[in-house]
Amino acid sequence: MMTPPEPRPSDAAMRRALRRASDGSTLDLTEATVLLHARGDQLDELMAAASRVRDAHLRAEGREGIVTYSGSVFIPLTRLCRDRCHYCTFATVPHRLPAAFLERDEVLEIARQGAAAGCKEALFTLGDRPEERWPAARKWLEERGFDSTLDYVRASAIAVLEETGLLPHLNPGVLSWEELSRLRPVAASMGMMLETTAHRLWSEPGGPHYGSPDKEPAVRLRVLTDAGRVAVPFTTGILVGIGETLTERAESLLAIRGIARQYGHIQEIIVQNFRAKPDTAMRGMPDADLHELAATVAVGRLLMPPGVSVQAPPNLVGDEFQLLLKAGIDDWGGVSPVTPDHVNPERPWPALDALREQTSQAGFDLNERLPVYPRFLKGAPGQWTDIRIAEHISAVAKPNGLAADVKPAGLPWQEPDGGLETVGRADLNTTIDTTGRTGDRRGDFDSVYGDWEELRKQLPKAPERLAADVKQGLRLAEANPGALLDQENADVALALMTADGEALETLVRLADEARKEAVGDDITYVVNRNINFSNVCYVGCRFCAFAQRERDADAFRLSVEEAADRAEEAWNDGATEVCMQGGIDPKLPVTYYADLVRAIKKRVPGMHVHAFSPMEIVSAASKAGVSVREWLTDLRDAGLDTIPGTAAEILDDDVRWVLTKGKLPASTWIEVVSTAHSLGIRSSSTMMYGHVDHPGHWLAHLRTLARVQDETGGFTEFVALPFVHRNAPIYLAGVARSGPSRRDNRAVHAMARLGLHGRIPNIQCSWVKLGEEGTAEILRGGANDVGGTLMEETISRMAGSEHGSARTVRQLEELATLAGRPARQRTTTYGSIAAATR
Ligand code: SF4
Repeated sequence: MMTPPEPRPSDAAMRRALRRASDGSTLDLTEATVLLHARGDQLDELMAAASRVRDAHLRAEGREGIVTYSGSVFIPLTRLCRDRCHYCTFATVPHRLPAAFLERDEVLEIARQGAAAGCKEALFTLGDRPEERWPAARKWLEERGFDSTLDYVRASAIAVLEETGLLPHLNPGVLSWEELSRLRPVAASMGMMLETTAHRLWSEPGGPHYGSPDKEPAVRLRVLTDAGRVAVPFTTGILVGIGETLTERAESLLAIRGIARQYGHIQEIIVQNFRAKPDTAMRGMPDADLHELAATVAVGRLLMPPGVSVQAPPNLVGDEFQLLLKAGIDDWGGVSPVTPDHVNPERPWPALDALREQTSQAGFDLNERLPVYPRFLKGAPGQWTDIRIAEHISAVAKPNGLAADVKPAGLPWQEPDGGLETVGRADLNTTIDTTGRTGDRRGDFDSVYGDWEELRKQLPKAPERLAADVKQGLRLAEANPGALLDQENADVALALMTADGEALETLVRLADEARKEAVGDDITYVVNRNINFSNVCYVGCRFCAFAQRERDADAFRLSVEEAADRAEEAWNDGATEVCMQGGIDPKLPVTYYADLVRAIKKRVPGMHVHAFSPMEIVSAASKAGVSVREWLTDLRDAGLDTIPGTAAEILDDDVRWVLTKGKLPASTWIEVVSTAHSLGIRSSSTMMYGHVDHPGHWLAHLRTLARVQDETGGFTEFVALPFVHRNAPIYLAGVARSGPSRRDNRAVHAMARLGLHGRIPNIQCSWVKLGEEGTAEILRGGANDVGGTLMEETISRMAGSEHGSARTVRQLEELATLAGRPARQRTTTYGSIAAATR
């Protein structure tokens, strides 16, 4: 495949770009592309600018004058791959291999040799999902009881941690959000080369990535993004000279920069030069020129945000070590005294002494690092790496986070002993209403949510308001309200969702009539108690004012006993339900959830346990290494009755990525609730609106819920949750608006009632967020339920809601009176209290 010619930039353009590079200005695509052309004196000038940035980076990272490498062993778990990259000799066919995968003992043998030689990293590099292309791979996995290559990767990584103490760095190719979550607890870090964002190199016949499903640039960018959302210290990089233009190369680097800024998880970029190999389709292509490589390293260094290291593999650069050091690298990557580079077996690693000598000629000391870079070890335990490998890491790390001069030894991969004690501000549930929160934001406000400016660029744009016929919409709402959520009626539905004035009044009247027809006049409520068992969380949802760092003044977690005490108290006060949710607290043992349910059921067998959001469920299942189905089955067997359908926010990934940063994708939310429903665990459904979303998202969200309900019938109710802005980080950063308007609240509840008519009978409104008058108004416009007494509500109160954290039964009944209808207590699943066990 030919590389399209690119004109050389003018001298003036080069001078301007070099000046901006020397001044430390932020470079754009045009300037980066111009600089990639630099050669001779211009290249020297470019490299000098990059060296200065590298030196500042090293100072900021606390390792001035130190260039690093990672002592590693290369574990080629499988050389089978479902892709067909035209330059690759690593991937092969089954009959050329003794077996589809390395056996566990073979893996451990390599790792043991590495440990004996003092290496710290077990670099798992393997083909992408070979079982999807090669029956031999499928058979091998099946015979050993593994569902997939990734299951085997996980098991092998645990074995390496337990038997040898080497730290796994996983390179298993394209991974989903769920797969990243499942592998995170067994890896110090992970990686995947972006390679290039040039779509044509993937889509056009003859391109190096043609026929390789995992090499689609959009797919790979999604993996980099998801790795950020799951908070995995991540290595990526580009290939230089595979047929990309210099503009495409600069675009690839800029794409990495954007993601690195947004999530802060990119620990290094590898700038790797193409080397033609015999027996490949690209054998006739010239090797990438090393001055071209140096220019790319320098531009990469200038583009990357602070904290991102730049690496060039030392076995691919001939004798040009000094050139690469001048160009701005600060790391040589993995160098193994034990195993060859299986991807480039014809190019042996340099001897460490030679590399040290070369590095010192440039004025640097060569130090060994771990696969995870030091800055990721500075946060709270569990923030960037799982708590279960904390001991493995600290056993081989120096206080500065680089590698200690020790030989690793195996350690159990398990949670620390000792259960979970109640710690921190455990009385926040009550004192939130008296003393309030300690500060309006958590201590890591400036870093945990990523770069707000990058985020602002991703804000969804509201559609033009449609001039569709509102009258036609109202006629449909009256005759066949459920049809409002049919795709073919999207325009009239949007017209109604944005209606105001007379049209809005008619809409809420129709919703009120639909409510009467569906569930009658009773306004229902449940007597329940919210128990938030921990508010420690590093997911970094940008709307969440509840989550705290472990060391923050308002952080707390509750022991199982404390939670059971609160449940018993609630039962004695007349509650029929406990609603329990917590942060994604890295220190919660995987056994905590089922223990909690069992403890409550033991103490108060009649209590309905409504607990664990889909985010908590998927995170805990990932941590435990089991499927969501298995996890939920265990919880159901422990006594879990229903789950809250929270963590839905807006079921549109474009909004979620702005709003939540690390939370589960929309498709996973749907999968978790659908799985729960199929196991007989019903759930509520929710939507949090009024932040960076628009009415089109609300309708799409309702359509998604309608589809799930048509398939499973498992939703008990729909709860619309107005965004509480006051202490929400995304509002404090000026990115989100200040919650929905009164019009929005009325339209959302009315449209939910009408669109979900015949599907979800109960539409609940939240007194916590709407207040007295607001709730009564919504109850007159389609809603029939006011939720629960809550007894203690911390999440909205931390966000700045001003409507208190508890309501007595009498107060809820007064709310119903205010709306002009009778009140009736219900069970969680909307049964009659008289018929329930109480
Ligand atoms: S919403 Fe939940 S998952 Fe997200 S930061 Fe808050 S506590 Fe954590």
